[in-house]
Amino acid sequence: MFAINHAATALIIKKKFPTVKILWLLLSVQAVEFLWVIFNFIGVEKTSTETSVKYIGDIHLYHMPFSHSVLSALIIAAISYILIRYFFRIEKLALPFAIGVLSHIALDLLTHAKDIPLLFFQNDPKLGTELYPLFPYAAFLLELGYGIFCWYYFGGSKSLLTIIVLFNLANFTTFSPDIVGLEKYFAGEPILLTSVIAIQILVTLLLVGFLSEERLNKVKFILFRQS
Ligand SMILES: [Zn+2]
Repeated sequence: MFAINHAATALIIKKKFPTVKILWLLLSVQAVEFLWVIFNFIGVEKTSTETSVKYIGDIHLYHMPFSHSVLSALIIAAISYILIRYFFRIEKLALPFAIGVLSHIALDLLTHAKDIPLLFFQNDPKLGTELYPLFPYAAFLLELGYGIFCWYYFGGSKSLLTIIVLFNLANFTTFSPDIVGLEKYFAGEPILLTSVIAIQILVTLLLVGFLSEERLNKVKFILFRQS
């Protein structure tokens, strides 16, 4: 799933665990993507593209066993749960953080090509619904609908909705083999692709984080007025 909708997932978790700071939830939902960025930069994980990139199906995340395997997500979630609960002793954060970590792989499984390994090894079965390469327009609608659902469930502000919709629309050409957009520059440039994704992660986390506070401030204002 794209960065904006991973970030929006933190809104669902925040609604369920309202006393937890959204910053930690935003970091949890993108924890494995941070690892993917680092591992791609240092060459431990690898991405390739077709000679021309018309849409997401031309980008191949062909080696990401450490950041994006199902087993590594379970291990990262378990380690973060144990560290947060028993080492840092922040009991209320342990479960929502682990859920955030697992949400990332669940959402990627729902949309990706078969590029998500079950375990760590080269010959492992790889999983993914193949929505991106086979049904990219359906994937776009699913992502947009999911982002809006997160906002609705959370009860966010209009500006938060605007950002979620705009970032999804900005990704449209990446889903469209018929309309070629800026993704054409990623052809043969996996490090450029990684850098753009890293920037998207940071910008969407910051925007969703700041704009989700608007709703809380509004609630505080109403409470203050009534008291
Ligand atoms: Zn991912």
